[in-house]
Amino acid sequence: MKTFQCTCRQPLFFDNTECIKCGAKVGYDPSARVLCALRPAKRTGFWRLARDPRRPAREFRFCATREQSVRCNWLVPSEDGEELCLSCRLTRTIPILDRPKNASRLRDIESGKRRVLFALQNLGLPVAAKSESNPKGLLFDLLESLPGGPAVLTGHADGVITLNVAEADDDYREKFRENLGEPYRTVVGHLRHELAHYFWDVLVRDTDWLPRFREVFGSEETDYGAALRHHYAAGPPEDWRTRFISAYAASHPWEDWAESFAHYLHLRATLETVTSYRLNTAKVPLHIDAFTSDALYLQEPKESAEAFLGWVNAWVLLTAVLNEVARSMGQPDIYPFVMNGPVVTKLHFVHCLIQDHRPGKAEAPPASLAVPEAEGASQPSEG
Ligand SMILES: [Zn+2]
Ligand SMILES: [Zn+2]
Ligand SMILES: [Zn+2]
Repeated sequence: MKTFQCTCRQPLFFDNTECIKCGAKVGYDPSARVLCALRPAKRTGFWRLARDPRRPAREFRFCATREQSVRCNWLVPSEDGEELCLSCRLTRTIPILDRPKNASRLRDIESGKRRVLFALQNLGLPVAAKSESNPKGLLFDLLESLPGGPAVLTGHADGVITLNVAEADDDYREKFRENLGEPYRTVVGHLRHELAHYFWDVLVRDTDWLPRFREVFGSEETDYGAALRHHYAAGPPEDWRTRFISAYAASHPWEDWAESFAHYLHLRATLETVTSYRLNTAKVPLHIDAFTSDALYLQEPKESAEAFLGWVNAWVLLTAVLNEVARSMGQPDIYPFVMNGPVVTKLHFVHCLIQDHRPGKAEAPPASLAVPEAEGASQPSEG
């Protein structure tokens, strides 16, 4: 996430609908990817960004869910003729809102979804609602398991992501996290994982990346149902920590892909936040064994490969520090995972695939994310 500021200089955060200092209305313009104070436009019910460098300045309306429980702060360009913003338009089904907790669950899930979509847009990945004219698009069904009805299972099928809204409840999520032996379970984690399955269909399935995918992850034609049954009955292979990012990733190539893609999104989104707040890791007195080009999926182009290694090594350093910060507050580790060489190869595969989709120079991490070559410093510890 980026830092944003009101015209009065008060910091603004991604979910804000108003500036708490000057009271200005605040909205997010997905086309310019900017969150800022708004001014009323001449036409009633329309708004302009307080500082819009575009001429003529664009006019927007509020997303129709802004005044509802969702409290969405995204803007809809007036020429779109839509009631809902780009994010809310992707939600096809919501739970029954007068049932307990559903309004706040929906608000939390939609907030996480906007955050995840923001990062996808930054990576140049296509996000648009699935429709008759856009069959490759995306939709979300946010559903509650009703008493006596079928259990709602979180998952993805053919562009439709289903999320059980109870995943927004801390007690529910924690119970499943513990039962399944997962180190990490969050709403944004679910969204990134299921989006990974969606993007496999879009970016890999019918493309020349498919044979390359199979070389790195194995064949997805392995019986999926049988693989998952085996995973839940027998657990992961003993050496999974040397080849996968999580035990679940070891269950099937599709799940390995989804976990790897989700971790790539964790990495990019979190490092963007750190960069935007100008935290400087170059002076952190922590020695890490930096990953080198042996772990890359492709060695060329060299500049792009080095840029990728810069991100990954910054991530290893930062997560060691952030985990220690979390422990200082008695909180669970922010990133309870340990990278290994094969995982870095898979993340680089994801990175190359995304770069291929959006050709251009791979962006290197800024100097503030440099990994220092410290002498006599200690190794990060596992929590
Ligand atoms: Zn303000
Ligand atoms: Zn909206
Ligand atoms: Zn999955």
